[in-house]
Amino acid sequence: MNIEILEKSLTKEPKFRLTQIKKALFQELIDNWDDAKTLPKSLREELKKSCPLEINAKILNDSIGTRKALITLSDNTKIEAVLLSHIDNRNTICVSSQVGCPMKCSFCATGSMGFIRNLNKYEIIEQVLFFARLLKEKNQKVTNIVYMGMGEPFLNYENVIESIKILNDNNAFNIGARKISISTCGVIEGIKKLSNENMQINLAISLHAPNNILRDKLMPINKKHRIEDILKAVDNYIEKTNRRVMFEYTMIKDTNDSLKNAQELSLLMAKKLYMLNIIKYNETGVFKSSSDKRIKDFMQILHDNTVKLTLRHSFGSDIDAACGQLATK
Ligand code: SF4
Repeated sequence: MNIEILEKSLTKEPKFRLTQIKKALFQELIDNWDDAKTLPKSLREELKKSCPLEINAKILNDSIGTRKALITLSDNTKIEAVLLSHIDNRNTICVSSQVGCPMKCSFCATGSMGFIRNLNKYEIIEQVLFFARLLKEKNQKVTNIVYMGMGEPFLNYENVIESIKILNDNNAFNIGARKISISTCGVIEGIKKLSNENMQINLAISLHAPNNILRDKLMPINKKHRIEDILKAVDNYIEKTNRRVMFEYTMIKDTNDSLKNAQELSLLMAKKLYMLNIIKYNETGVFKSSSDKRIKDFMQILHDNTVKLTLRHSFGSDIDAACGQLATK
């Protein structure tokens, strides 16, 4: 599928056609142009040739509440996306923003793939569309989106923002901005730009270390964007938007999970609109996950220091589908 061609095919059509097409594609979730009844037959025939609607994807793994899909794009590159189904009927799609990732975080499977290219806005949307069609069969809908799959979203800023506009558009997916989250490893220019967008989306920072020495080892971007500079950009973002910011901290055994690390983290995180999300590490080979006992003790220290925090069991850890751990093997 290559929806990008679509806009080019419509240059001679009246403007309302695009609205009709968006409704057919993203609300009715048609997978065959014959079903786009609001369009003239001649246009449907043309679109069948120029813009086929099949998505080249297969489900790689299926576990309770979690499905991972491998999508092959028109240039044969491959990306992964994940559907996380929650018991309260929420369905979150974790989307990729790049093929691979240039950031090389040492604990991340995607990082070890290297970087291939940015996704265009429709390739990001295609991931949501694939799962939206699957959910339709069960009378369910996509309710939440997290930009937490392959890639660093702020290195593909324009396409990510344009894709969010389609997700948010009430003629398209109509997903509320507050249900959409972008997770960055700390690209300061991206945080600054986002604070000027006037969008109600959520910002998350992948922190994973409480000091620069350790973060330098885990996340090479830290050599460019130091923790104190990231936090300064976050504070400016909060001042402008008055929105809460989530920090993600994955617990890696004997690496970032000492009780001293918990004390250091407490000093960074004890701020009014900071929220900490502790994540159980999804083991990918080199590193191991902290024990449950260590996670409990670590969290207790944070709690005693009045840090607002939650524990997230790494969704889909049984299918390699946790945060930043997608990779086309
Ligand atoms: S954790 Fe995120 S930013 Fe780091 S290498 Fe993986 S995908 Fe890229």
